[in-house]
Amino acid sequence: MARYTGAVCRQCRREGQKLFLKGERCYSDKCSFTVRSYAPGQHGQGRKKSSEYGLQLRAKQRARRFYGVAEHQFRHYFEMAVKKQGVTGTNLLRILESRLDNVVYRAGYASSRAEARQLVGHGHFEVNGSRVDIASYLLKAGDVVTVCEKARATDKMKAVVEANSAKPVPEWLDVNRDAYEVKVVNLPEREQIEAPVEEHLIVELYSK
Ligand code: SF4
Repeated sequence: MARYTGAVCRQCRREGQKLFLKGERCYSDKCSFTVRSYAPGQHGQGRKKSSEYGLQLRAKQRARRFYGVAEHQFRHYFEMAVKKQGVTGTNLLRILESRLDNVVYRAGYASSRAEARQLVGHGHFEVNGSRVDIASYLLKAGDVVTVCEKARATDKMKAVVEANSAKPVPEWLDVNRDAYEVKVVNLPEREQIEAPVEEHLIVELYSK
């Protein structure tokens, strides 16, 4: 699967806002967007006016980058969202939020979604007692994600949990840090999702 392998911080600068893709660094003075809050490249500080299409495209790219999802998969999620009952934009966001890597990150078992993807890929998590190593695995209400026994004992996992212990957890997740566990209480409503996403623009883009 094609995955973006360029400079991570460049994506925030392109989108004109912090996307928090690098964990601790994003909250420090070393954040590239804090230092250079303009688009990358020779014309990064030039013309900023966008067409309607440009705004829709940026909204889609921002969401994709925020969740770390490739184009074809994002499109697939949109098609899933269309088929579901309710508001398509909210359905899309709910699908993105229900990814295993996102839940691991939101629960504080990783410092960024990229790190969550890596930890999941290494087989460090179980869903309802069975090991799952697919970052895009979609969770349902009632699912329980657990850090596997072996991973709990590693210094890396202990450090990650410690570093994220004060991080606020969304109310649709029930985290039990002692048990290294997170339960999906319900899939989130729109107002429970903190993400720099203007989903109506994405719906407009894909509906053309
Ligand atoms: Fe974005 Fe984080 Fe890099 Fe800052 S440090 S530019 S928030 S990825």
